[in-house]
Amino acid sequence: MAYDYDLFVIGGGSGGVRAARVASATGAKVALAEDDRYGGTCVIRGCVPKKLMVFASEFSNLPDEARAYGWDMSLGDFDWCGFRDRLHGELDRLEGVYRSLLSNSGVTMYDARAQLKDPNTVTLSTGEEVTAKHILVATGGHPVRPEIPNAHLGIVSDDLFHLEALPKSMLIVGGGYIACEFACVMAGLGVDVTLYYRGAQILRGFDEEARGIIAEGMSEKGIDLHFGTNIVDMAPASEDHSASGALTSSDASMGAPANEPETRDISKDHDGPIWVKATNGKEAVFDKVLFATGRAPNTQDMGLEEIGVELGRGGEIVVDDYSQTAVPSVYAIGDVTNRVNLTPVAIREGMAFVETVFKDNPTPVDHKLIPSAVFTQPEFGTVGLTEDEAREQEPVHVYCTSFRPMRTAFAGQPYRVLMKLVVSRDTDRVLGCHIVAPGAGEMIQLAGVAIKMGATKADFDRTVAVHPTMSEEIVTMRDPMRTG
Ligand code: FAD
Repeated sequence: MAYDYDLFVIGGGSGGVRAARVASATGAKVALAEDDRYGGTCVIRGCVPKKLMVFASEFSNLPDEARAYGWDMSLGDFDWCGFRDRLHGELDRLEGVYRSLLSNSGVTMYDARAQLKDPNTVTLSTGEEVTAKHILVATGGHPVRPEIPNAHLGIVSDDLFHLEALPKSMLIVGGGYIACEFACVMAGLGVDVTLYYRGAQILRGFDEEARGIIAEGMSEKGIDLHFGTNIVDMAPASEDHSASGALTSSDASMGAPANEPETRDISKDHDGPIWVKATNGKEAVFDKVLFATGRAPNTQDMGLEEIGVELGRGGEIVVDDYSQTAVPSVYAIGDVTNRVNLTPVAIREGMAFVETVFKDNPTPVDHKLIPSAVFTQPEFGTVGLTEDEAREQEPVHVYCTSFRPMRTAFAGQPYRVLMKLVVSRDTDRVLGCHIVAPGAGEMIQLAGVAIKMGATKADFDRTVAVHPTMSEEIVTMRDPMRTG
């Protein structure tokens, strides 16, 4: 049967754009549908705008440090609107780059939402219907709000980049990397930040010791961390409620908001302060509440299950090692499969898909030893197993050092860094490397190469230190701190 295209990609984000381009380069006839903006989460509402906000927020540390180094420097005002408009200018430019990359690669673009009609047919919101030999679903995910009364009053990460003004106070709910990164960013921009997390420590799933040092660093930045805490109710703040950001005790004299949550008549676009009641009974008022409480795959109303594509419990598309779904002509990559939700992974999955389907070279995706960074302040770079994971797997030596780095210690700042290697006692291979330090994201990329190559502790030991740096400690730790 003759199809309109060899490949139809749904979703113009990191994974979809890369897969479409490299498939087209093999000579395949390729089309792609995007219902929002090209570049997807990473470029429009994720990695890129976030990192630019991280950069913006880091300048506030400079004057204190600079003064210790002899400079006469003071912190001026931060112009949020000026920065935000420049940021969007940059995102527009990048979206244009993505569009040109696709058109220059010969990919036909549909600015439309796509749904699957059958294993080889896609229907578009424009009313068009196209057929393809292979369909690649790369629709990513979206942030989800928790199921609490009036959760719509809170914003999600997508909204942060569009704020009309910088709030004076912000409650961030969540303890994952997005919550922690934005807590540091907003604090750096001068916002009074409180973080509620229902767990006992931020950054669940990462190395325990690193989590502790990052939490310490965040507290030192003035972020008010509350663990074991969640919101039970929220409402537009009335005049009776306390001043912005002030925590109050929820006793009888304080009183609850006038109406019960179910019956409150609240405008969807309420932009004023928000009253919040926490699980510990405390009440507080914040200018903004940000929910960073998780993301869900974009698989709703796409006709996936109807044609036989299997979805997991969280709505993610279930795929095999080659990203193939239960329907042989339909593949899925990136966040919509909820494997490892990172941009470079979505890109790799897209390239492995093209190798498999268009280059006759079946290529499973390698999800082992993926280096990654959390852009908190202090920054975190990590690759491989955490100490706890490694101990469960086999006997290990743990090499670890924590110290105040020269640059900030000289300025009298309390921040500590962490350098940690988890090493197999049997093979001497480095199983995990965890770095909390300024620039840790850059450091872990390079450590990741060695560790992916199978470097042993002896390899680290025989590498000469670069002095004076923070990262020299990674090759100078002689004795294990712990063995287990
Ligand atoms: P996406 O990039 O989400 O692209 C999916 C696209 O599909 C979207 O453009 C969407 O509009 C479109 N779409 C959805 N449904 C349809 C449909 N039915 N029809 C047509 N089009 C559709 N990763 C990192 O590696 N480093 C980071 O620092 C980092 N920071 C992040 C910060 C934030 C705040 C967030 C939210 C994410 C961050 N990520 C980071 C994760 C990263 O952005 C994602 O892993 C990556 O974008 C996933 O790419 P994707 O191709 O799977 O999906």
